[in-house]
Amino acid sequence: MHIAGNPATLTPLQRELIETAAALGREKFAPRAARYDREASFPFENYADLRESGLLKICVPRAYGGHGADFATYVMVAAEIGRHCGSTALSYNMHVCSCMWSGFIADALDMTPEQRADHETNRALLYKNIVEGGKVYSQPFSEGGAAAAGKAPWGTLAHPVEGGYRVSGRKIFASLAGAADYYGVLCTLDKPGATQRDSMYLAVPADAPGVSVSGDWDPLGMRGTVSRTLVFEDVFVPGTARLMPEGLYFQAALRFPHMFATLSPTYMGIAQAAYDFTVAYLRAEVPGMPPVKRRMYPTKQIGVAQMRVMLEQTRALFLQNARDAAVDPDKDTRMRLYAAHYTIMENAQAMTALAIRTCGGQSLLKSLPIERLYRDSRCGSLMLPWTAELCLDRLGRECLYESGERDEEIE
Ligand SMILES: Cc1cc2nc3c(=O)[nH]c(=O)nc-3n(C[C@H](O)[C@H](O)[C@H](O)COP(=O)(O)OP(=O)(O)OC[C@H]3O[C@@H](n4cnc5c(N)ncnc54)[C@H](O)[C@@H]3O)c2cc1C
Repeated sequence: MHIAGNPATLTPLQRELIETAAALGREKFAPRAARYDREASFPFENYADLRESGLLKICVPRAYGGHGADFATYVMVAAEIGRHCGSTALSYNMHVCSCMWSGFIADALDMTPEQRADHETNRALLYKNIVEGGKVYSQPFSEGGAAAAGKAPWGTLAHPVEGGYRVSGRKIFASLAGAADYYGVLCTLDKPGATQRDSMYLAVPADAPGVSVSGDWDPLGMRGTVSRTLVFEDVFVPGTARLMPEGLYFQAALRFPHMFATLSPTYMGIAQAAYDFTVAYLRAEVPGMPPVKRRMYPTKQIGVAQMRVMLEQTRALFLQNARDAAVDPDKDTRMRLYAAHYTIMENAQAMTALAIRTCGGQSLLKSLPIERLYRDSRCGSLMLPWTAELCLDRLGRECLYESGERDEEIE
C-alpha cells in the first residue's frame, strides 16, 4: 500500500523520493530499528544512508543543489521513513525543518531588502554544509517551561557581541543530541524588555566551546532519537549562524503554522506500519513466525477492518493537510490543521493498541516490531507545541470565538 494512498496523483519528484525512502526503509532502516530501540542509540548508519541517497538535502532549494521539495513532498517522504523506523523519521524532521524555515517559508515572509540579502548569505552556508558537507542539523526548542508551548519567550538567550552572539541556556529533549553537527537553537535576543517577537534561530556548531550534552536517555519510546539535554554556556556564534534574520521566527511561526505539524508524518508512518504488520501477521507472512494463519476468524477480520477505517481517516486528513500548507492560512484551514495533527497523533496510538489486541499475545514478543510501534506512538501527542491537549484547547476556543471576541464580565 502506498503511503500517499493513490500514487497516480503524485508528481514525478514525489514518486521518486518516496520510492527512495521506501527502499531504504524496507532494506536498511526496518532491520536495524530493533537494535537502536534496545540500545537507545542513535541511528548513525541510517543517516549515512540518508546522506548517500540525497534525502538529507530534500528541502534544500534546487538553486543550491538540493531536491527543492515542497511541504507536501517532504511530509510524504517523512511518513514513509516513519513506517520503517519512527526514531529516524522524527529526528530527520528536526534536520529538514532547518531547510524549510530558511527556505520556502522565509521566501514567503516580509523582510527588508537588507534582511533578505543577509539571509541569502547565511542560508547559502547552511545549504553548502548539507549538500557538500553532508552535515546534519537539529532543532532544540524545548526548555521544560511555557516557551515550547508558545506561551513565553525562550529562556535561552543570545547576547549580541562584536561579530555575533554569545548563547547561554539549556534545552531538554533535544533529538540528535551528540549526533547533529549543528544545533538549530531557538532563543531570545538578550535585550531589555525582550518578548517572543525577539526570537532568534541560530545554528550552533556541536563542537563549539561551551556546548555540552548531559543527562541519560532511557525513555519509553522513540529511543533512537537520543533526545538528551543540551547545555550552552556562553557559546560564541558568528552573525552568519542566523538561520533566519533577527525577529523573523516569530513572523514565520504565526504565518506558517503547518510547520508545527511536521512532527505528525512520523506518526502517520507508524499508523501505516501497525496496519502493515497486522495484515502480515494474520496472514502468517511475518518472516520467521510459525505458519499459523489467523485471518479466517471473524473477530480478527473486524479488528483489521477497524484499523483500515482509522488508517484511511488518518491518511485523508494527513494528505489534506499536506495540500493546505501555505503562508497565511485562513481560520478554517488552521482549524483543519489542528484536527489533522490531533487525529494523526491519537490514531497512531489507538491503532497500535488495536493491532496488539487483534493479533494476540504472541505478537507482543520483542522479536516483533509491534510493541516498539506501540511505545513509539505514545510519544506523539505529548510533543509541544501542539500536544493533543493544546490542539483541543485551540480548536475549542476557535470554534466558539471569532478573532478579538471577548465575553462580558459576569458580576
Ligand atoms: C522522543 C521525543 C523527542 C523530542 N525531540 C525534541 C526536539 O528535537 N526538540 C525539541 O525542542 N523538543 C523535543 N521534544 C520535546 C517535546 O516537544 C516537548 O517539548 C516535551 O515532551 C515537553 O515535555 P514536558 O514534560 O516539559 O511537557 P509539559 O509539562 O506537558 O509542557 C511543558 C510546559 O508547556 C505548557 N503546557 C503544556 N501543556 C499545556 C496546556 N494544556 N495548557 C497550557 N500550557 C501547557 C506548560 O507551561 C508546561 O509547563 C521531544 C520529545 C520526545 C518525547
